[in-house]
Amino acid sequence: MVRLFVTGELSPDAAVLPTLDQSRYLTQVMRLKIGDSLLVFNGVDGEWRCVIAEMLKKGVVLRGEEQVQPQSTGPDVELLISVVKKSALEFAVEKATELGVRRIRLVVTQRTQTQHVRMDRLDAIAIEAAEQTGRVDVPMIDEPVKLAELLDGWETGRRLMFCDETGGEPAGAALQDAGEGPWAVLIGPEGGFSPEERDRLRALPFTTAVSLGPRILRADTAAIAALTLWQAAVGDWDR
Ligand code: SAH
Repeated sequence: MVRLFVTGELSPDAAVLPTLDQSRYLTQVMRLKIGDSLLVFNGVDGEWRCVIAEMLKKGVVLRGEEQVQPQSTGPDVELLISVVKKSALEFAVEKATELGVRRIRLVVTQRTQTQHVRMDRLDAIAIEAAEQTGRVDVPMIDEPVKLAELLDGWETGRRLMFCDETGGEPAGAALQDAGEGPWAVLIGPEGGFSPEERDRLRALPFTTAVSLGPRILRADTAAIAALTLWQAAVGDWDR
C-alpha cells in the first residue's frame, strides 16, 4: 500500500490534504481512485489508514479511517556527519534514515571542504526514505555546525562513537558492553580528522574511538557500517 508523510493532523474523520505533488503521485502515478486506501503518517499521530475522499483541482482530500500503528521512535542514536560531496551526503541521509537514526546533525570539521547544503533536498530524501521503510517518524536534520561548537555544548549522558580512520578498538568489540542510553556516531570528511580534532575527541570522557576495519571507507559507507554495528550491538535489531 502507498505510504505518505503529511504535515496535517491525523484523527478519525479528519480531512488530510497532501501537497499537490503528492496528489499527482497518488492519482497519476499510483492511479488511486476515490475510496482507495493508503497509509499516512505525520511524525506525531502514528500511522493511519486513510481513504481518498475527494479529488479536486487543487489536490486530493484524504479522510482518516483508523490508526494502524501508534506513534513510536527508534533507539536514540544520532548520525553526526561532516558535510561531504552532495551525492555521498544524500546517500548517507537516505541510508541512515532506513537504519533508524533519530536525528542527523551536519558537522563542519577543519577539513570539511564545503559548507553549502540544500537542507530542503536532504529533508525530502529523509521523508521519502521514512515513507518507504515503514517508520512513523522522520529524522530531523540540523544545519551544519562546527565540530568544536558541537562538542562544547555536548548533551550530558550521550555517548559518542568516534569513527577514527587511523584506528581504534574494533567497533564490534567496543560496543559489545555498551548498554542502553543515547548515542551519536561521528563520521569525518573526505580528508579525515585533523590531529588536533583527533586528540580532543579521544580525550573526551564520553567518546569511544573505534575502527571500522583496515580499509579506508568513504564517509557514506562508513556511516552505514557504523550504524549497522551500533544497531546490532546496542539498537533495536533484537526486538
Ligand atoms: N582521507 C582519510 C579518510 C577519510 S574517510 C584518509 O585517507 O585517512 C571519511 C570518514 O569515514 C573518516 O573520517 C572516518 O570517520 C570514517 N572512516 C573511514 N574509514 C574508516 C575506518 N576504517 N575506521 C574508522 N572510521 C573510518
